[in-house]
Amino acid sequence: MSITTKSIFHADFQAKPFWWEAYEPSDHEPQEQPRDVPVAIIGGSYAGLAAALELQQHGITACVIEKENPGYGASTRSGGILGGCGSVKAPLLSFGESNREFSELISAARKGLDLVEGFIDREGIKCEWQKHGMFSAACATRHFQRAKEKAELMSQYGEINSTPISAENQQSYIGSEYYRGGVLFSNAGHLHPALYYEGLLKACKRRGISICSQTEVINLNRHRGGWKLSTSQGELTAQNVIVATNGYTGNVTPAFKRRVIPLKAYMIATEVLSDEMAVNLCPKNNAFVESARITAFFRLTGSKGNQRLVFGSRVKWSDVNSKEMAPLLHRLLLKRYPQLGDVQITHAWDGNVALTLDEQLHNGKMDGIHYALGCNGAGVANMTFLGTTVAQKIVAQSEQCSPFDTHFISSRFYRGDERWFIPVIGRYLQLRDWLDRCLDRP
Ligand SMILES: Cc1cc2nc3c(=O)[nH]c(=O)nc-3n(C[C@H](O)[C@H](O)[C@H](O)COP(=O)(O)OP(=O)(O)OC[C@H]3O[C@@H](n4cnc5c(N)ncnc54)[C@H](O)[C@@H]3O)c2cc1C
Repeated sequence: MSITTKSIFHADFQAKPFWWEAYEPSDHEPQEQPRDVPVAIIGGSYAGLAAALELQQHGITACVIEKENPGYGASTRSGGILGGCGSVKAPLLSFGESNREFSELISAARKGLDLVEGFIDREGIKCEWQKHGMFSAACATRHFQRAKEKAELMSQYGEINSTPISAENQQSYIGSEYYRGGVLFSNAGHLHPALYYEGLLKACKRRGISICSQTEVINLNRHRGGWKLSTSQGELTAQNVIVATNGYTGNVTPAFKRRVIPLKAYMIATEVLSDEMAVNLCPKNNAFVESARITAFFRLTGSKGNQRLVFGSRVKWSDVNSKEMAPLLHRLLLKRYPQLGDVQITHAWDGNVALTLDEQLHNGKMDGIHYALGCNGAGVANMTFLGTTVAQKIVAQSEQCSPFDTHFISSRFYRGDERWFIPVIGRYLQLRDWLDRCLDRP
């Protein structure tokens, strides 16, 4: 049956993350909010839990406050791709941070990956971690040139795991003719994001860390040298506060709301593929992230006999739901993999990422509030790292906690509520991507 007569939606289609088949955010053991804690953490995902675990290791009690069920945020909705040094954004390419040491960013990316692997090992987290590498796929010849230059620059700073692969040689990595080569980051891979989250949550529970779910922080005010939080459960005082709300940052912290731009990202999962098809699409089981400004990312999930492809991107700039976006993502998917014409979609979902104006991660302390924010679309390892290091800043009372503890820029053009911002920027970037592909045609 061909794609023209067959629905793209599988009979079992669900508009929810595929990952929730294994761990769905729920609130089996609701906890009462304490009245006073040394550290209150707003946001109960990777960054929040990693911070709580680090504090606990140093004998500091923290309470994690989560508006929804534990794991409701982006952490159980992602592609689960850990790009290692492939997710480092060269400061040379961004504005405002030109004095940032590139080597420090590379080292931070390595530490982020080490932290995730450390949690997986120590806590025995079974989250399908597969370190087969990430292929950063060039959508245009000039992207390939830029990626090669970046890989060369990285090698000068000791990053030896990035190898440029030309278009002629890419067939052994990907069963697609869409790309113009790419760079393979071998010290990278993919995992099941919701199972990794569940592992962190269990680690917190084993240590007696309070997780107050279905509890929204509504107000935050200074109080006797510390903070008073008004939540939907009542009042709580804390010596320190960590904001770990990323793409879900709201009015309770207006200074952060205007520094992170929430962007919805969308994903689909295919039905189970034949083993031959899975090998054909991703012969080495790499993860793939495109070089385009509006990127697409994909990977296989599961093990032999039970593999699907999960694929994510954003096509439209009006606020559509994940089922409406699914056919558009499916069309993008077929441009990369026409051989998937008969394969149906079983799941479609979305989640918020947080963009920053300088495209960099940020953590530190501003106006007395600690924060770990701004994943820019790559947060599995990065937010684990930011959460851990911001907790270390509290423990050591240090000046700087990470290379991302620098000026957190804002713009007078973005106050946090402009509805025009995302569609205008999104369409502009899409146009530039389209031009790059057009100029590439022989
Ligand atoms: C579709 C999609 C695909 C992605 N793919 C990848 C990928 O392949 N690789 C990768 O590295 N990253 C990826 N990411 C990014 C990654 O998922 C995120 O960066 C990461 O999960 C963010 O974790 P976090 O702990 O900072 O915040 P989140 O997981 O977003 O959690 C923030 C939490 O804060 C809570 N909150 C907000 N306000 C309040 C309040 N007032 N009171 C209490 N709680 C509050 C929210 O309810 C939310 O649960 C993807 C993201 C999406 C959406």
